[in-house]
Amino acid sequence: MVQPRPFHDIDDSNNERMGLSTLEDISTLILQSQGLDETLKNIVRLVADRMQTEVCSIYLCENDHLVLRATIGLAPDSVGRIKLGMNEGLIGYTAETNSVVNVDEPQSHPRFRYVAESNEEIYHSFLGIPLSDRQRLIGVMAIQTIEPRQFNSIEISTLSTIAFQLSTVVASARMLDLLARETASPIDHNVTLTDTSPDTTVSILKGESGFGGVAFGPAYLIDEHLGVADIGEGEPTDLLGELDRLTDAIEKAKIETLCLEQRVASRLGEKDAAIFHSHLMILQDRVLIDKLHAGVKNGRSASAAIKQVISDYVSTFRSMDDPYLRERAADMEDIGRRLSASLCGLTRDVIQLPYAAIVVAKELLPSDIALLDHALILGFVLETSDSNGHAVIVAKSLGIPTMLGVAGATSSVAAGATLILDSASGAVHVNPQNQVRKEYERLKRDSDRQQAQLQQFKNREAVTADGTRVSLRANVGLLSDVSIARAYGAEGVGLYRTELPYMARSSFPDRQTQYQIYRRVVEGFPGQSVTVRTLDIGGDKMLPYFDTPKELNPFLGYRSIRVSLDHRDMFRTQVEAILMAATHGNVKLMFPMVTNMDEIYSCKQIVDEARANLTAQGWTLPHVPIGVMIEVPGAIAMAAHFAKEVDFFSLGTNDLIQYMLAADRGNSAVNHYYDSLHPAVLSAIAQMVETANRSGKELCICGEMASDPICFAILVGLGLREFSVSSPSIFALKSQLSQHSLETLKRLAERAVTESSSARIREMISDEIGN
Ligand code: PEP
Ligand code: MG
Repeated sequence: MVQPRPFHDIDDSNNERMGLSTLEDISTLILQSQGLDETLKNIVRLVADRMQTEVCSIYLCENDHLVLRATIGLAPDSVGRIKLGMNEGLIGYTAETNSVVNVDEPQSHPRFRYVAESNEEIYHSFLGIPLSDRQRLIGVMAIQTIEPRQFNSIEISTLSTIAFQLSTVVASARMLDLLARETASPIDHNVTLTDTSPDTTVSILKGESGFGGVAFGPAYLIDEHLGVADIGEGEPTDLLGELDRLTDAIEKAKIETLCLEQRVASRLGEKDAAIFHSHLMILQDRVLIDKLHAGVKNGRSASAAIKQVISDYVSTFRSMDDPYLRERAADMEDIGRRLSASLCGLTRDVIQLPYAAIVVAKELLPSDIALLDHALILGFVLETSDSNGHAVIVAKSLGIPTMLGVAGATSSVAAGATLILDSASGAVHVNPQNQVRKEYERLKRDSDRQQAQLQQFKNREAVTADGTRVSLRANVGLLSDVSIARAYGAEGVGLYRTELPYMARSSFPDRQTQYQIYRRVVEGFPGQSVTVRTLDIGGDKMLPYFDTPKELNPFLGYRSIRVSLDHRDMFRTQVEAILMAATHGNVKLMFPMVTNMDEIYSCKQIVDEARANLTAQGWTLPHVPIGVMIEVPGAIAMAAHFAKEVDFFSLGTNDLIQYMLAADRGNSAVNHYYDSLHPAVLSAIAQMVETANRSGKELCICGEMASDPICFAILVGLGLREFSVSSPSIFALKSQLSQHSLETLKRLAERAVTESSSARIREMISDEIGN
């Protein structure tokens, strides 16, 4: 049940926001209710709670009367019994004038009429709002209070928004009723099922490793060019399996509808989004669901049943005289498409895998990864070869084997084909023969054994052979990262990329939503620190609902802290949410891509404002250390100045390398210039270590190079002791460290910074420590 949230408690009481949350709540109520009566009952309860009124009632037009259909506050048994004439009492007056009626002391209003059955007490205020659907009056909603009360314009507008949304719910319920009668005859169409059993041609595709490992499983294609027409109906398998698939598709279609609703609400407004209430009601409709089930029970596949029942509904609508109902055919088609897409997993809005699979795609955006159901992803096969992009970083942190640069993968792999992904040898075996399969099964057993051996490092400290301790924390972005980081024994979080939860949504999460997400991450690491980085969008991380300019050089443009500082309200909201989460653990606050002192001053001012605001709202906040990322070469030169204003630094080598070597981290054409062991990069890191030591500030490194055992060895030798890495690399890093003394690693690092090329550095490392 939707939790009541009194009107005065809502953080952002502006009407637009209130409307948006109400929109979501009504959707939730629809999904929690069985039919219109229950939905109405829940809505009156919601409205009375929100508006803090004793009475809320809904009257619907039925046979030239206004019939009480739901109430909170009036006698419950009067529902269905109170029938008012179309212009009787203040309810009738609201209907007759088809406008808002706002009256104090209603008893003294000339149109007041006392209704005995209602047990109506003496109420001192009345607000009536007409319910109409496309200019047709369909009922009236009214609220009443015992205490005299003036309803202000925000409250009236909020109630009008609810009334508007309620109207779509009522109209949809009525339409479904009508439809149930019109399509009562059993469906009996003959359908031809398309055989979509996957192509079994054997082949091997080549690519590069994005993240190591072997994966087995069926292919799942994400190809934005596929349309609904490409979706096969599929042979029915067993009855229970098809029924499960159907139920699953309906549930996924509801989730997708909710996402669409939010997206449309934030882009266009809640009025446009209210249409999705009607879609939800249709997806929740018993008659429709029974028909779909009947189709499957009659021997059809889930997709064939969907196509059939929906087309039946569509043609019924099309044949109706009422132009309004005829128009609803398009909605029905839309729902049918969403259902079929959910069934086949072919939706770009929420990517739900229908089974555990290896995802094959042209490219994967960070937002795609944020939307995917990670528990079901066995591996990634991507056509692009952007190995330093955020999508690959997230895949790594989730420990998902990834192959990049697999040319033509989406056109040559059929959906459902059996794949073996072997990133070490750079091969994707499509429909492998038995021998190959057996060989890989053996390899997988070996690698599992190796992993099991590494498990011994889980509860061991990260120490060199001669006892120097370093700290290994995790880079996290999604909530799923938390349990993975814990499983690998991470000592807290050195980088929480907060933009990922933003990407998984269709609109900006509000303060409360952000707070709840951050809090879950913080509570995932009791007694350990969590460094929360503020929004770092731009570059390759775009928010679908946030307009950013098209730029020639996005990585040199409007990104990261620059965007946050330009959107101060949004920024302050985020900082407030982080400070609120800090009351649940040990939080550090970090700002990305800082290049000058003014940015730091502005960030700190925002923190002060956020603190003041929260304190005024009654929060008692702990001390939260403030740090900045060093990820631009200029910031290294400025670090001694920055040290006067901040508590800690974090080296972001992913960006630092691209800026130092002028090699776009997302451009595969210049990938070979992007070199973590370039002597210039190592010298810059050495310089930063020295500045941090001199100024007595903590320095962590959170760029991906720290997750690579070879680079890690050099970084320890360079003097770094705090690391934030992708969790699945933690055991290998501890193993690496345990094999060498600090003296060896220092010697390696000293030599590395004087070498003239990374090739020579690698050679030297291989000679010295044999990696
Ligand atoms: C970095 O640049 O090294 C870093 C950790 O930040 P991101 O990868 O999120 O840009
Ligand atoms: Mg960065």
